[in-house]
Amino acid sequence: MSALEEIAAVAGEAVLWRRDLHRRPELLYALDETSAFVATKLDAFGFDEVARGVGGSGVVGVLRGRPGTRAVALRADMDALPIDEITGAPWASETPGAMHACGHDGHTATLLAAARHLADDRDFSGTVVFVFQPAEEGGAGARAMIEDGLFQRFPVDEIYGIHNLPGLPVGRFAVRPGAIMASTDRFYIDILGRGGHAARPHETIDPILVGAQMVTALQSIVARNTDPLASGVVSVTTFHAGNTDNVIPQAARLSGTVRALDEKVRADLETSVGRIAMAVASTFGAEAQVAYERGYPVTVNHLEPAARVGDVVEGLFGSKAINRTAAPLMAAEDFSYYLERVPGAYFFMGNGPSAGLHHPAYDFADDAIAPGAAVWAALAKASLAAAT
Ligand SMILES: [Zn+2]
Ligand SMILES: [Zn+2]
Repeated sequence: MSALEEIAAVAGEAVLWRRDLHRRPELLYALDETSAFVATKLDAFGFDEVARGVGGSGVVGVLRGRPGTRAVALRADMDALPIDEITGAPWASETPGAMHACGHDGHTATLLAAARHLADDRDFSGTVVFVFQPAEEGGAGARAMIEDGLFQRFPVDEIYGIHNLPGLPVGRFAVRPGAIMASTDRFYIDILGRGGHAARPHETIDPILVGAQMVTALQSIVARNTDPLASGVVSVTTFHAGNTDNVIPQAARLSGTVRALDEKVRADLETSVGRIAMAVASTFGAEAQVAYERGYPVTVNHLEPAARVGDVVEGLFGSKAINRTAAPLMAAEDFSYYLERVPGAYFFMGNGPSAGLHHPAYDFADDAIAPGAAVWAALAKASLAAAT
């Protein structure tokens, strides 16, 4: 059998693993069943080392081939989302309020299929480190694994991550050098005015008027302060004030999200949000307090690893299967934390015409497991064979 045929045979079983994981979604770091499932499988495949509880509930599997100096890490995320599933699939979530709406069940099953194949095959020199991480969905599980010594215990030369992408046909892949996913930050602005009778506005400082001006002024950051050839998002997503019609309230609260594809732009956006909030408030005699929380950094692919992803996909499935200049997404990924420390690349695999990520009707495309696992296996070998 060819490597592709062998992987196709393993992928058939991996579809059952995927559906099993889909039925039992777990959130953030509370991945008892999921991480046990993964660790048990790696043990059964004959892995040289299986470490549990890395970064809370992460699992790391180590596979050694022939003697070699290089090591490569392949990463899958394992956590689900707090969403009620509406797919009606026979393998739908059996846990109310939780579902695999981002396809991390598929990522886990795809990497397990590659793990199974490479454990049987062992036709490589060096070490493959399989990273199954918790809490990608807002919990910075990648950072937790790094802070728990991931790269000290399991040093690697490169790291790779796959995410499925609805709208891209199954069996196709997309990558780009440089920024592929955005940073994500949030802000909270408390506006303190002076409340009073709605019929006597001259005796008040109306925080709703101040907030309305602030929302408008914040839009000038991207329109007037950001290089048109760069990318930025400043969205005010909540505005709370008042609770009746004849009272001007004392305070208002805004919150929102800030995204960028470049750390310099990100820093400028942060500065501008604070400056505009304070200045607009003082223009009207109000006060503002700004809390700005930094979330995931920009996910920046390194050049050579991104090119390697393209070469590997092209070698397996032809040039039509790979888009090497994919448009970046303004969503964020904690894979960014790995890429701040180790060269690597994050790329997409097609999920076909499914509902969008984080939608209650979303489901991972089982047909994507075989091509995904084939790319994983070939990519591991290509990385290990690369000149240092
Ligand atoms: Zn997600
Ligand atoms: Zn995801």
